[in-house]
Amino acid sequence: MSNPAHSKLDALWAYTGRFAPRVSLRLFSAGSCRHPEWVTIRGGSPRSVRIPALFAAIFHPDEGTILFDTGYAQRFFRETQPFPARLYRMATPVDFRPEQGAAAQLRASGIDPAGIPRIIVSHFHADHIAGLRDFPAAELLYEPEAFDCMRRLRGIAAVRKGYLSGLLPDDFAERAQPFAPESRIELPEGFLPEFPFRRATDVLGDGSLLAVDLPGHAYGQIGLLLRTERGPRLLCADAAWSAAAYRENRPPSALAGVIMPDRRAYAASFRRLRKLAAAFPELTVIASHCPEAERLYVKEGRSL
Ligand SMILES: [Zn+2]
Repeated sequence: MSNPAHSKLDALWAYTGRFAPRVSLRLFSAGSCRHPEWVTIRGGSPRSVRIPALFAAIFHPDEGTILFDTGYAQRFFRETQPFPARLYRMATPVDFRPEQGAAAQLRASGIDPAGIPRIIVSHFHADHIAGLRDFPAAELLYEPEAFDCMRRLRGIAAVRKGYLSGLLPDDFAERAQPFAPESRIELPEGFLPEFPFRRATDVLGDGSLLAVDLPGHAYGQIGLLLRTERGPRLLCADAAWSAAAYRENRPPSALAGVIMPDRRAYAASFRRLRKLAAAFPELTVIASHCPEAERLYVKEGRSL
């Protein structure tokens, strides 16, 4: 009988030359917002749909619990009270209850938020970083470009880019761990030709978590490749907004492009995602706002 944990993608982990332990993964939903469906997926209807903000807890055998993003948090409402940030809340009405926050949900599962050692940030949009302040001890790991393009933005320019600087912890500079040059793994031409990325980042240095570049929705956005006992997984952040979108080749509408800094890069990342999913059918891809992923892995509680 074939073992679902084995994948052609294992060659990638072997290439890192590291032990690359398997991790386990649990998905959570931390609030939601509403958009007309046609904004999020080509051919969508004009009706308003609920878009969940998912985040993941990664359980590493040696490194403890590591988060991938945080979803919304109560702090979002405080930050979007005054204008011009209030425009953000008006454009994407958010539905959130305090018990849905990442820290509250982890606490309810018996995990102390103060004991979370690391959070990997896919990109710096508010719906991904709103909960950072609730994790006072976590190092914050990210692609340098993802923050460099946001850090100086203030006022309306920041709001237009989906960035609210007040969501960052006051000691962000001390806890920030942008990916270092020595964590880069360049993949030679011809190596695993179906793999559509020529670079990966060994986030922890043990080969277990490999970041790949998925820019376009935001500069420097990353996805995270990892392996569980059940097979390989990719947390693809907002490179697609749902499994249906990349499966059926239905990228978001041109209007959604208004908030994207680089539509061409988005299209290229979207194509890479489709290529990856086609070449490695055993790979489960989880988009941060995917209603199907929320239904299967959060509401129905299926194992990931
Ligand atoms: Zn998002």
